[in-house]
Amino acid sequence: MTAQAWQTLSNRIQQVAPSATLAVDTKAKTMKAEGIDIIGFGAGEPNFPTPGYIVDAAVAACQDPKNHRYTPTAGLPELRAAIARKTERDSGYAVDPAQVVVTNGGKQAVYETLQVLIDPGDEVIVPAPYWTSYPEMVKLAGGKPISVLASVDQGFIPTVAQLDAARSERTKAIIVNSPSNPCGSVWDAKTIRDIAHWAIEHHIWILSDEIYEHLTYDNTVTSYIGAEVPECREQLIVLNGVAKTFAMTGWRVGWLIAPRFFAQAVSKLQGHLSSNVSDVSQRAALAAVSGDLSAVAHMRSAFDIRRQHIEAMLNEIPDVFCPNPTGAFYAFCNVTGLLNKPHGQHSSVAYTSAELAALLLEEAHIAAVPGEAFGAEGYLRFSYALDDKDLIEGIRRFKAWVEA
Ligand code: GLU
Repeated sequence: MTAQAWQTLSNRIQQVAPSATLAVDTKAKTMKAEGIDIIGFGAGEPNFPTPGYIVDAAVAACQDPKNHRYTPTAGLPELRAAIARKTERDSGYAVDPAQVVVTNGGKQAVYETLQVLIDPGDEVIVPAPYWTSYPEMVKLAGGKPISVLASVDQGFIPTVAQLDAARSERTKAIIVNSPSNPCGSVWDAKTIRDIAHWAIEHHIWILSDEIYEHLTYDNTVTSYIGAEVPECREQLIVLNGVAKTFAMTGWRVGWLIAPRFFAQAVSKLQGHLSSNVSDVSQRAALAAVSGDLSAVAHMRSAFDIRRQHIEAMLNEIPDVFCPNPTGAFYAFCNVTGLLNKPHGQHSSVAYTSAELAALLLEEAHIAAVPGEAFGAEGYLRFSYALDDKDLIEGIRRFKAWVEA
């Protein structure tokens, strides 16, 4: 190693951007800790406590020394079985527990899937606006993310014609995320079926991130690709977790469901990467997925009220347009009308949505994630999974800043 080279970090890590959602969240929390009254619409995490029966299961697990040990890498057998039963209940098709791998949050399920699937130069179609970590994880696996932007006029839902135009001989996979982060769109059953048939025809793996499955509004429902088109299950990886459904972001329990040989390969990787997910967290997740969905029904009602408030309030701000989000807990609004013009007490000018987000944080003390993080410049994402009072005050600050 030469004197110049020893401090150089790998190309792999230099090529990826930091997580924008976590960066906004960290910045907002740091400013808060400094005594600045910031309202955070950054990271999407429910503000509700984890339901009591789940916490009780974790407390009991802590007190039993049998849970102070490693578990099998792919997860506790009873948790894998419960996830299989939950999938049959919610998604409507049978899964063998051997197809399930329990991961350290849904994020690790996405990461490991891509590590197992992608060789250098392979392409992954990533419909945009996309969750900020997908393209970076594709790059970390040596692959090439191919972004396909679905416009607001399409309800942010891509067409198969658009996907096919992005397809090449190297297309290995497509990421489907409905209900979607960041747009809150819920893809209709026909689109889901069309994508499955197109993927089957062209031998493309489908990575279906279903983490927001239970958060839909205005009579929309999640269409499960593995139920809509059973023939696609041989090339389908379902990505999911307890974080959003049970307000368990900090417990870090996710999973993937894949063909058996694929699940075994993921388990091999995880055996070298992180071993098992915390035993106590797995016990908590077992209580969550074995129970009913009444806790999420309660949270969904609260989110629905906030959704209606935030959409109405954002649309009252001059030059802001917020399409109706029918899923997840994000409002994704177009702010191009605010760019290149003076706003706020200091007549500050933002030329990009990233600059606008920075100004809103500094001057209006509200944290939102800029569209650049999701492959869609000119937008801001507001997570509405926060307290009602803060939501109203935060959007009031945004409006006051625009109108100052
Ligand atoms: N998925 C959430 C978000 O987009 C959590 C933060 C993250 O891990 O990106 O805000």
